[in-house]
Amino acid sequence: MASIIPSDNIKKQMDENISSKLISEIIRDRIKSQKHRFHANDNISDFINPGELEILQKEVTSRVKDLLKSLVIDIENDHNTQETAERVAKMYINEVFKGRYHEKPKVTSFPNDKNLDEIYTLGPISVRSACSHHFVPILGECWIGIKPGNKVIGISKFVRVADWVFSRPHIQEEAVMILADEIEKLCEPKGLGIIIKAEHYCMKWRGVKEPNTSMINSVVRGDFRHDPILKQEFFELIKQQSGLI
Ligand SMILES: [Zn+2]
Repeated sequence: MASIIPSDNIKKQMDENISSKLISEIIRDRIKSQKHRFHANDNISDFINPGELEILQKEVTSRVKDLLKSLVIDIENDHNTQETAERVAKMYINEVFKGRYHEKPKVTSFPNDKNLDEIYTLGPISVRSACSHHFVPILGECWIGIKPGNKVIGISKFVRVADWVFSRPHIQEEAVMILADEIEKLCEPKGLGIIIKAEHYCMKWRGVKEPNTSMINSVVRGDFRHDPILKQEFFELIKQQSGLI
């Protein structure tokens, strides 16, 4: 039976490392030694070994406990917040920021044997993210348009990849570019367009407290960028699909 339990040697090495360093420091050192970026909206799963996420979750739990203590909340006697640190750590690592710590969903692409070249759009796809500045939700919808290239993927895969990309702390302007990069890697489309419309809780809940403002941004690449008629067709299809523009 397959096992994710590390071998004795690796375990020994992990134990030694853990005894002297926090797991977040070990992971950070690995990323730095490979000269990779680890901004809030980067995926760092390549640098996390099997079994380490659980250890990281424990470290984050203890840090969130410290945060609650610094907020002068009695986490020992307040039954409502006794397990808040555990919940928040689990939520960050495995749910709302899973796109940082977990691998990209497996997506199989197929050759475009029939040479499909008509554009298609899909949406709305839910946008569930958080702003990098305040760690409060960004919620909205997104639409994707494709002019197929050499490869095709099932339409449900776009939803899975979008969820993985959005499940990180973001600013909306960069989220749309990162999603476009991932879709280009997966299916190498001749044309790609993405539109996001989202509400930012850092504007609704705090700050200017403006409840009805949303932000729309888009990216167009390949033939959608170079061919004005195709670009027009893309925006027209999205308009019909969403009533957005
Ligand atoms: Zn914000």
